[in-house]
Amino acid sequence: MTSTSRLTGELTGTVLRRGDAGYDRARAVFNGMIDRRPAVIVGCREPGDVARGIRYAREHGLALSVRGGGHNVAGTAVCEGGLMLDLSPMRTVEVDPDARTARAGGGALLGDLDGATRAFGLATPLGVMSGTGIAGLTLGGGLGWLAPRYGLSCDNLIDAQLVTADGTLLDGVDDDLLWGLRGGGGNFGVVTTFTYRLHPVDTVLAGALGFPWEAAGEVLRAHDDLVATAPDELATAVSLAWGPSGRPALTIALCWCGPPGAAGPVLRPLRRLHPDLDAVAEQPFADWQRVPDAGYPPGRLHYWRSACLRHLTDPAIRTLLEVTEAMPPGDSGIGLQGLRGAAARVAPGATAFPHRAPQYDFLVLAQWPDPADSPRHVAWARAASAAMRPHLEAGVYVNNLGAEGRDRVHAAYGTNYARLVELKRRLDPNNVFRANQNVVP
Ligand SMILES: Cc1cc2nc3c(=O)[nH]c(=O)nc-3n(C[C@H](O)[C@H](O)[C@H](O)COP(=O)(O)OP(=O)(O)OC[C@H]3O[C@@H](n4cnc5c(N)ncnc54)[C@H](O)[C@@H]3O)c2cc1C
Repeated sequence: MTSTSRLTGELTGTVLRRGDAGYDRARAVFNGMIDRRPAVIVGCREPGDVARGIRYAREHGLALSVRGGGHNVAGTAVCEGGLMLDLSPMRTVEVDPDARTARAGGGALLGDLDGATRAFGLATPLGVMSGTGIAGLTLGGGLGWLAPRYGLSCDNLIDAQLVTADGTLLDGVDDDLLWGLRGGGGNFGVVTTFTYRLHPVDTVLAGALGFPWEAAGEVLRAHDDLVATAPDELATAVSLAWGPSGRPALTIALCWCGPPGAAGPVLRPLRRLHPDLDAVAEQPFADWQRVPDAGYPPGRLHYWRSACLRHLTDPAIRTLLEVTEAMPPGDSGIGLQGLRGAAARVAPGATAFPHRAPQYDFLVLAQWPDPADSPRHVAWARAASAAMRPHLEAGVYVNNLGAEGRDRVHAAYGTNYARLVELKRRLDPNNVFRANQNVVP
């Protein structure tokens, strides 16, 4: 049963408790490994619902969690026995094509924002699939196809409406708080509206180049050389996974957001290596943003290990190939998503997101449907990440972290941690927002 404020004290919005119809759907997040039961779920339709939810949780001594798109693999959107603020009803997007800005609700998905801006031939940098939430993505950084050209999602966040830990609605944020929202996660408040800068992006040249496994080492070397000097218009993501032929396969997905004619010479070093698949074609950017969706259905079991990877040396490549060959057959993969160009030219202290050298976001992504297979997949992901460790940086992208302990949280915020603590002390001294990769006040 759905109740309203009359039945549950001062809570407003759609209020669900255990046993209510819709409760199990509302507590489910993307990662099927996460199975937590909040005491109350508040479906928020406007900032007042959020503010009352925060006050209610504080007055009743309940843990608080915040759900944007529910994609985070650590499952921090949902808490056990506490109050979950579910922002998924707040998905409205307003575009101002003259000012080249968009305002999006705190529960909007990437597909909502891309879908609204495409009508104007505009876009802001987001992630690579449509079902991810803009909230978690942007607050942690936001790495996708437009990053080399226009920066991370957080670099394009220009303002926010936010409810603070004492339930106050801020209609805009000061420079210090904006700095913290650009990579400091959900530590400072519940963002009810994100305002982004938009850029002219219409059709792009995008798709995949696939290579036979025998060529994988040579292709990885050529790709590393290519991205060291390629223009900002090029974004790439390497994937090592089981191919349809029952053997591992190496795929380079790419997106060129510049004049199509200029891409040919840039891509020549890869095409010279005889791809057995060349599916790169001109297409609307917003369509390309949906291409990976089918490969990541919600509800599968996920276990991820990740770190920053600066140099793809020959020993690193050898290890990468070995751990791929040891991957259990199925839908898992290893990804190397490029962080370079404009996203890497920002000073590490200019935003809370600290990892600004040109590098790869290295990700061991294990996913499988059957809980009985969990030990095998988790063991492989751990072993793969341990084998790669000598080649990896200490730093890690906060949005890829699982529940991995304090050291890893520090590694994620890096040199910006001390300033984040100061900001946390100002805005959330009691650590109300702690169901996240937590900055401890
Ligand atoms: C299939 C898949 C593909 C992905 N691809 C990319 C990619 O291309 N690029 C990339 O950078 N990342 C990518 N990610 C990682 C993604 O950025 C994170 O999982 C991110 O946390 C998802 O945001 P969300 O809103 O969906 O998360 P949620 O699970 O809803 O929230 C995660 C955390 O964010 C905070 N939060 C959520 N909403 C709010 C809010 N409104 N206000 C304040 N805090 C809030 C909370 O602390 C919450 O615990 C991908 C993840 C998946 C599963």
